[in-house]
Amino acid sequence: MEAKTAVDESTIHAEVVVLGGGPGGYTAAFRAADLGKQVVLIERYPVLGGVCLNVGCIPSKALLHMAQVIHELDDFEKHGISYGKPTFDIDKIRSWKESVSKGLNDGLARLVKQRKVTLLQGVGQFTSSNSIEVKSDTEIKTVTFDQAIIAAGSTPTKIPSFPHDDPRLWDSTDALELKTIPKKLLIVGGGIIGLEMATVYHALGSEISVVELMEQIIPGCDNDLVTPLYRHIKKQYKNIWLNTKVTGITAHKKALEVSFEGKDAPASETYDAVLVAVGRRPNGKKIAAELAGINVDDAGFIAVDKQQRTNVPHIFAIGDIVGNPMLAHKAVHEGKVAAEVAAGHKSAFDALTIPSVAYTDPEVAWMGLTENQAAEQGIAYDKAVFPWAASGRSLSIGRKEGLTKIICEKDTGRVLGAGIVGTNAGELIGEAVLALEMGADAEDIGLTIHPHPTLSETFAFAAEMITGTITDLYIKK
Ligand code: NAD
Repeated sequence: MEAKTAVDESTIHAEVVVLGGGPGGYTAAFRAADLGKQVVLIERYPVLGGVCLNVGCIPSKALLHMAQVIHELDDFEKHGISYGKPTFDIDKIRSWKESVSKGLNDGLARLVKQRKVTLLQGVGQFTSSNSIEVKSDTEIKTVTFDQAIIAAGSTPTKIPSFPHDDPRLWDSTDALELKTIPKKLLIVGGGIIGLEMATVYHALGSEISVVELMEQIIPGCDNDLVTPLYRHIKKQYKNIWLNTKVTGITAHKKALEVSFEGKDAPASETYDAVLVAVGRRPNGKKIAAELAGINVDDAGFIAVDKQQRTNVPHIFAIGDIVGNPMLAHKAVHEGKVAAEVAAGHKSAFDALTIPSVAYTDPEVAWMGLTENQAAEQGIAYDKAVFPWAASGRSLSIGRKEGLTKIICEKDTGRVLGAGIVGTNAGELIGEAVLALEMGADAEDIGLTIHPHPTLSETFAFAAEMITGTITDLYIKK
């Protein structure tokens, strides 16, 4: 009779284990697998893609596209094309939005198989510096590992004093679920999530009010870039209260009653729904990192070096959990670095900038040094702001409020930063990022032939304003 060897099927070993299957996590897993590592990827949800793909960037962009179509059709009424008042089949819109995410989920599932990555569904927590326990509804597995990459992301910030079990009080995930279209929607937080969701629900017919703690919306961005957006939405929304905070929310049967504080704060008002979009918190305290000896700060962030290593040398961390900005494209690049270092390569995260985009209408995008930062750091710079009112392409799409701003080092003309507000600003900022990474100066950009008529020309025009060669505007000497 053959002797049976006892195999503990609930334990598997990984050369590299990745905790979290968002854009940072799956990128790290795929890169490590491509570099020859045997990889286990742990994800709590049945699908990969994390917040970005399932309840963040991707579904919101689908809904923002819908909002753009609605607004553009509406706008064209005055130019002679009218389709009448739109009607909304919210179930159909939701299904379409879900189908966009599903297409990408399916694609990721294929990539996992093609790369022979072992995918474990369940919630993972460290049990030591070389093991993670993964609990699902049906089983508990242990993954022992040589190296680990933590990519466990972040969660929306909650305001403790607000009622939390009321379905009318939303976070970004609730807002994207598109369960109802509230008649009156209050958005707490005039940052990127708040303003993107305001765009969506305004298009669907909600009366929007926004309350922002700071003196401008999107506080991290230069004020001159935010102003065209502010002017545009001020006309559309019922209220935008700046320098104002919400002091309390009381749930009544018919509505949520909200009280405010601040110089221009209104008396209390009632709303059918309130979206709280006041930032996100890292998930560092949810993974039992202390059992692996990993340092997590009070906020929940895990500090890493340029190789994405934590204080435990064979454990790396990437994405929202290591610090701001909490953006998928940052996580993806960090994920590649961590995987490459884990595979023995000499990689480091040394990107010069991480671009930011608000996919509002108009979009706002910026990268590199903002003008505020240049001034704070005492850097001598030249700046130019090209008004889209002088762009044929911008006028042909019926919009003229856009601006393209470029900030260059005074002595060398090298690009230090750029910002764009206007249609497709998020697409256009990529060129500025490349210019910065390649060490381009204003002359390089001005001498680069951009196709005409395009919005991309505005970046070259702004550069020509710095070099003094612009002919599309008259600038008095
Ligand atoms: P955020 O930090 O962009 O904006 C939060 C806003 O809320 C800030 O303007 C802040 O001043 C304000 N605020 C804070 N407390 C407040 C209070 N009590 N009352 C009123 N206002 C208050 O955060 P977010 O919009 O929640 O987004 C979370 C994260 O997700 C960010 O890191 C963001 O960059 C990222 N994100 C990015 C995109 C994108 O790239 N397009 C889209 C969505 C989210």
